[in-house]
Amino acid sequence: MLRAGRLLDLQEQDLTIDRIDAQLAAIAGRLGETPELVAARAALREAEERAAQLERRRKDLDLQVQDTRAKREREETKLYSGSIVRTKEMQNLQQEVESLRRRTLELEDRELAVMSDLEEADAARIAAQRTLAEVEARWREEQAALLREREELTAQRERAVALREQRLRQVDPADLPLYQALRQRLGGRAVARVERGICSACRVSLPEREIQKARGSSSLVTCSNCGRILYAG
Ligand SMILES: [Zn+2]
Repeated sequence: MLRAGRLLDLQEQDLTIDRIDAQLAAIAGRLGETPELVAARAALREAEERAAQLERRRKDLDLQVQDTRAKREREETKLYSGSIVRTKEMQNLQQEVESLRRRTLELEDRELAVMSDLEEADAARIAAQRTLAEVEARWREEQAALLREREELTAQRERAVALREQRLRQVDPADLPLYQALRQRLGGRAVARVERGICSACRVSLPEREIQKARGSSSLVTCSNCGRILYAG
């Protein structure tokens, strides 16, 4: 076989390994937590905090209602006990009872408003929980699929590396520096086939003399346009 042909065989495996490496890098970039998952978790935390805050507020108002009511009941008992005889004192106490009654109603109204907000916040919290569960389930599935894919690609890579080793042994070591340098410079493709007088990599027509030279196995011939090693087997 021509020297260029052996390099072409080596390149086939190198390109396979390059492709697998690119796929593995893409998978590595997708493994781990996604922005969607992080956002869903943050949304739930926020909804939980809002609900907890409203619940604390509701409890606080409830205590205030109870206190105000108890105070009013004590004052009413005093008012109707018959122990107060002075009119002025009686009037003051009546005013105080009335004020406490209004205060209780006002606090109850506020508590009702908070309870209504709390109901909404609870619904939002449950919705956020459901969303997170869905996102998490989907994420787990994706991650599992990515891990399976990675395993499969790793096995493919091992086979390609073994095959590359075999092909490398067929290559003239003197051709390797040029091959490696061209691969690095020209997007991984150091060798191009000559197809119907054209370089298959850069699509330029090659002089017949160059093609004839490439057909001989004694030396490597490079494309006068793109610089790749020509294989005209
Ligand atoms: Zn070319």
